[in-house]
Amino acid sequence: MNIPVKVFIGIGSNIGNSLENCEIAVERLKRLEGFFVRKMSSWYRTEPVGFKEQEWFVNGVVMGDSLLDAESLLRELQNIEKEMGRVRKVKWGPRVIDLDILSYGDQLIHLPHLKVPHPELPNRRFVLEPLCEVDPDWRHPLMGLTACKMLEKLPCGEQRVERIDVV
Ligand code: ADP
Ligand code: MG
Repeated sequence: MNIPVKVFIGIGSNIGNSLENCEIAVERLKRLEGFFVRKMSSWYRTEPVGFKEQEWFVNGVVMGDSLLDAESLLRELQNIEKEMGRVRKVKWGPRVIDLDILSYGDQLIHLPHLKVPHPELPNRRFVLEPLCEVDPDWRHPLMGLTACKMLEKLPCGEQRVERIDVV
């Protein structure tokens, strides 16, 4: 029997009802065979990074156990993105839904279509804040730093990130 691998998935949206899009994506992840949602961060409203002339994003992080290998999981995530109407246009541009594998156990993957841990993870406050919330002890398998430590190292003032208080 396969042993489940601890996985973190980053979720983002900035087209339409972004919060609802993100929640739908979590529901889809819950229904994925071979993947088990264990914990969910709060949602955050986040300033766009890179391409600034677009709406703020909603972002969050799911912690899960995966029986799917990393490449199969990526295919499933891309399938959800496609079904939710994502059209690839501008890199870092607006999107209905973005699902990224942030980390997959302690694996280091360097394929043309899949890099794990996600190379931008250490630079993105919109990923580190929710990641630190779901698992403050998680360590980057190559850098050896926790998500919280990486968060401390980011320059202050850049990349505004605001937690959404759900009432
Ligand atoms: P980003 O999520 O960095 O804004 P995109 O979602 O537009 O960028 O990029 C999608 C491409 O990134 C896909 O073609 C996919 O193959 C590739 N990719 C590489 N590593 C990962 C990963 N860890 N998770 C998701 N997609 C990845
Ligand atoms: Mg992506």
